[in-house]
Amino acid sequence: MRYLSTRGHADRKRFCEILLEGLAPDGGLYLPEQYPQVDAAALQRLREVWSGQGYAALAFEILSFYIDDIPAADLKALCEKTYTAAVFGTPEIVPLKPLQVAGSDAPELYLEALSNGPTLAFKDMAMQLLGNLFEYELARRGEALNIFGATSGDTGSAAEYAMRGKKGVRVFMTSPHGRMSPFQQAQMFSLLDENIHNIAIEGVFDDCQDIVKAVSNDLAFKKQYKIGTVNSINWARLLAQAVYYFAGYFQATTSNEQCVSFSVPSGNFGNVCAGHVARSMGLPIARLVVATNENDVLDEFFRTGLYRVRGTSDTHETSSPSMDISKASNFERFVFDLLGRDGERTRELFGPGLSRTGQFDLRQDPLFAQAATRFGFDSGKSTHADRLATIRQVFEQYGVMIDTHTADGVKVAREHLQPGVPMLVLETALPIKFAATIVEALGREPSRPPQFEGIEQLPKRVLTLPADAQRVKDYITQHCR
Ligand SMILES: *Cc1c(COP(=O)(O)O)cnc(C)c1O
Repeated sequence: MRYLSTRGHADRKRFCEILLEGLAPDGGLYLPEQYPQVDAAALQRLREVWSGQGYAALAFEILSFYIDDIPAADLKALCEKTYTAAVFGTPEIVPLKPLQVAGSDAPELYLEALSNGPTLAFKDMAMQLLGNLFEYELARRGEALNIFGATSGDTGSAAEYAMRGKKGVRVFMTSPHGRMSPFQQAQMFSLLDENIHNIAIEGVFDDCQDIVKAVSNDLAFKKQYKIGTVNSINWARLLAQAVYYFAGYFQATTSNEQCVSFSVPSGNFGNVCAGHVARSMGLPIARLVVATNENDVLDEFFRTGLYRVRGTSDTHETSSPSMDISKASNFERFVFDLLGRDGERTRELFGPGLSRTGQFDLRQDPLFAQAATRFGFDSGKSTHADRLATIRQVFEQYGVMIDTHTADGVKVAREHLQPGVPMLVLETALPIKFAATIVEALGREPSRPPQFEGIEQLPKRVLTLPADAQRVKDYITQHCR
């Protein structure tokens, strides 16, 4: 399998070449040259792998379609090391929880639990694999990598828990001082591993991102200190996420004649793009429902064909903060497919034009209709009041506590139910991470998994610095010797 850039660059690369890279040289995102097709016999075989051998074996099978530069035995070992009940809390790894089941009059609705990993958000599903892949590939090359990033919560902690103690990898993670939830701060700052460096920046998330940009633009520094990232445009993360669409499908159905739909709480379009990959491989997915919060860039596009990036001042701070985005960094991948894989046009839409005008318009383009008809996309949005009502209703009716992001997914899912088609809502985080809103909705604290009892009291390791890129660079320099 070779990988190409969504902006038409002539290079073709292999999996391990793009694993440690960010964007393609032309600013595009990497995608496989084509999506391997899973026919009826292959789907049946995957179902048997799932039911007979479980998640790690299924992950190995799906990754093998896309990775031909890691020996099969090694890739299998990496999957088995990653997807264990010890790390993800259950032997199923991604169990389904029914909200409404077959037999009642209402259509079937399920939660697919993706948030039982070390940081209680779905990002662990991909990041834990990435940590093991990075360690493997760096050792093979005899190289080291310093991961540098900015986080407002979930991504940074998932990256740190995936990379802690890994050979050849250091993590330098900036976050806005005092602005993450107390639980998120405790999660990140209680990591005492030598290769993990938490840097609290006196400022807001945008200040952290500006520092990351300043460092990325200093090519000499980047090269000398081997700076890399683990952001959501990494193809390996998407690939790892495609696996749980298969696992969800196999759990909700008994035969490959059946279809399911997924509702996906979306921000940067990474999670639902993995669903698009699974569907493009031939997994029988009826609808892929993109659920947004008040930051509805994606909902607007799927309703109208107009993609309108929001300015910082138009980006709402909501109670589902991991979906508070002004533009969706993975969206270019889908648009490339929607435009019949026309790299030239994708470059026109996402290149300098988008930075200049902040939008592109496919309202008059006949291809836009295919987003729904050929690619199965639907969308909807949710508000703070919707989240509160949904959290309350799901708790009262089913005794299940859901987090704010998952609530956006459930709210929008209900607007897209079809008779006879199970709807799977991806559970993207556990309620304990966003306790304040749960208290607002239910008047009680969310339950806390036992391994997190008292983490707020653990010793913390975090350095506070002013919003000054040079001070951050100096710190990296001192700790890369
Ligand atoms: C990251 C995140 C999302 C958004 O996922 P994307 O892949 O960016 O669309 C939704 N919910 C939670 C809890 C997250 O951490």
